[in-house]
Amino acid sequence: MIFRSALTLIFIPILVWLGWLYTQNTQYPPADKLFADVLKAEQNSCYIADAQLTLSSKNHTNKCAAKVYRLKHSSKIEYLTKPKGAVIITNCQGAFSYDPLNNTSTHSECCGLMNCSELMQLLLSNYKAQIIGEASIAKRACWVLSIKSRHFKNYPSRVIWVDKQNHLILRAQDIGCDGKMRSDFCIQNIEMQEDLPESIFNETQAYRVNCLRMEKCANINEAGRIIGLSVTEPGYIPKGYRLEGIRICRCSCGCNFVTTQIRYTDGLQIISIFQHRNGHQCKECRIPTHNTRKEGDCSINLLGNNLLAVCKRGDRQILVMGNLPKNEIRKIALSFK
Ligand SMILES: [Zn+2]
Repeated sequence: MIFRSALTLIFIPILVWLGWLYTQNTQYPPADKLFADVLKAEQNSCYIADAQLTLSSKNHTNKCAAKVYRLKHSSKIEYLTKPKGAVIITNCQGAFSYDPLNNTSTHSECCGLMNCSELMQLLLSNYKAQIIGEASIAKRACWVLSIKSRHFKNYPSRVIWVDKQNHLILRAQDIGCDGKMRSDFCIQNIEMQEDLPESIFNETQAYRVNCLRMEKCANINEAGRIIGLSVTEPGYIPKGYRLEGIRICRCSCGCNFVTTQIRYTDGLQIISIFQHRNGHQCKECRIPTHNTRKEGDCSINLLGNNLLAVCKRGDRQILVMGNLPKNEIRKIALSFK
């Protein structure tokens, strides 16, 4: 009798726990399907939101408040605290950013060779989604999804908080190769707004400074002809990455600096490669060209969330920028012929 009671005492909690576990699991939708729905919902989102942005580097963390405007493919982020006055606008034509600390701006023309659905397919083929929990963001119930590379361990990843009802991303954290949080974008409150005027996303003329202009270029041979150097693709690029586009970048401070940018993407991360004449220096356009090295050398430094490799090939300086493990960045930089 005592034995039976003891068994009941042991088994009932186990059964209750298993039942709870079962209901918890069945409540979760399939993660990859949910992630695909999130990517579709993001392309149709229309809202105004207050957000907090946190950027963490090796030595310090910067928190700031921002106003976010979204109208389908267009978005605008206005910084309300330090760097107060900074603006980032992206739309189908390209991207614009204004940096009030240096009073400089960057205009980059969209150079994408892939359309939105191709990019989405690329992202889904390179990353796996997993639901890791539930939470509430801006008073809305969310799924928490972890987005990790299908090919590499110790690779940058992302955690997103997704509105259970409309599938919008309400919070996103970027995790570096070292597993540490690099950036956190968190919406504090959100107001759906279908009738935002398109003009909000065309206000770049308001910023008279005009520093770096990045224009779309048809192909590598054309880029080389424009800058008067032989421009090449690297011999190595990590698995899953595809050529996203090519640009010619010109500094408008009067220094005549011109460089080419080749961009590769895996759907989430970007590898950006600059090639220009060795020995150029300009403080205005903020392309880090000062670090000229001996032939065969390759120096690697942290630049914001990215690693930057600098190397020299004949009269060319090559910069490789990306959020990748150090050995991968070095491998790309050294693969140039
Ligand atoms: Zn310049």
